[in-house]
Amino acid sequence: METVPAHSHNYDADLMERLLFRVAKKWVAGYSTDEAMAAALDSNSRGMSAILNFLGEDITDVKAVDQTVREYLSLMDLMHKRKVRGCVSVKPTQLGLAIDYGMCLQNFKELSARARELCQFMWIDIESVKFIEDTIAIYLELYKHYGMTGVAIQAYLRRSASDLLHIAEHGGKVRLVKGAYHEPEEHAFSTKEEVDGNYVKLMKMLFESGNYFAIATHDSDMIEDAIRLNKNTNFEFQMLMGIRDKLKNDLVTKKFRVAEYIPYGTQWLPYSVRRLRERKRNLLLLARSFIQQ
Ligand SMILES: Cc1cc2nc3c(=O)[nH]c(=O)nc-3n(C[C@H](O)[C@H](O)[C@H](O)COP(=O)(O)OP(=O)(O)OC[C@H]3O[C@@H](n4cnc5c(N)ncnc54)[C@H](O)[C@@H]3O)c2cc1C
Repeated sequence: METVPAHSHNYDADLMERLLFRVAKKWVAGYSTDEAMAAALDSNSRGMSAILNFLGEDITDVKAVDQTVREYLSLMDLMHKRKVRGCVSVKPTQLGLAIDYGMCLQNFKELSARARELCQFMWIDIESVKFIEDTIAIYLELYKHYGMTGVAIQAYLRRSASDLLHIAEHGGKVRLVKGAYHEPEEHAFSTKEEVDGNYVKLMKMLFESGNYFAIATHDSDMIEDAIRLNKNTNFEFQMLMGIRDKLKNDLVTKKFRVAEYIPYGTQWLPYSVRRLRERKRNLLLLARSFIQQ
């Protein structure tokens, strides 16, 4: 009978994690706040502002939520101290939305109060469909007290046109994304054509709204449409760290405002899996890293 050392599972898991991280390193700044700062300053030096995200989601432990709030507060201070041009972007479930709405709102209020002191913008990421209603409610509540904040809206959701109108009525600021989660057909468009069609429709609404917004995509077709719609409009492009660096640079050269979204921290796995799923070529990268181990 074959004997398996008791620790072999751990060894396999460690090896797997190390190989995955080698690929994930393309999209995340590293584990530490210092690495996030270095990546943010690098974005600034390439003419972009930085949007920092401390990785973590679906937190169900109150202590971990609390630590996340402390991390963002010290991150914001550090950005101010090191003169980073940029802001943070926070996921509601890392501030406790999966535990309690009131707790999450309170935490967001604490972060936005600090952002106000430091004159920093604050973005709210949007997550899976069951959190949308609460996230928009939290956003509008925050926006009443602190105007320099915005929320992401996903073009793959059928409900997004009405959410966008609702936010626009209040003068709110939107980051338009395609959407990164797996959602059922009843809530979300499933084909690329439908999602792209809705993205363009929502983008036109944003260009007509008169409020500040962000076009967050790596899709050249969407970006070219935005450039066509632009009439000295006050908006920015946003792209993720490690993706389409040349396009970012072209947009900066053309004097568009561009921001780079930079995640960091130890909880890099779910984020990296979403990036891997989005592009077959990324799976090849992963396979190559396994072969070259
Ligand atoms: C700044 C920012 C913030 C985000 N925030 C959220 C959020 O809060 N909630 C959320 O659900 N999602 C968020 N997303 C993710 C988003 O929803 C999409 O999952 C992700 O951006 C991929 O979609 P896409 O718009 O790039 O288009 P896709 O349809 O995935 O890609 C379109 C085209 O872009 C190009 N492209 C895409 N990826 C690459 C690549 N790796 N290398 C080279 N070319 C590439 C290719 O030409 C591709 O055909 C965010 C994205 C960005 C950029």
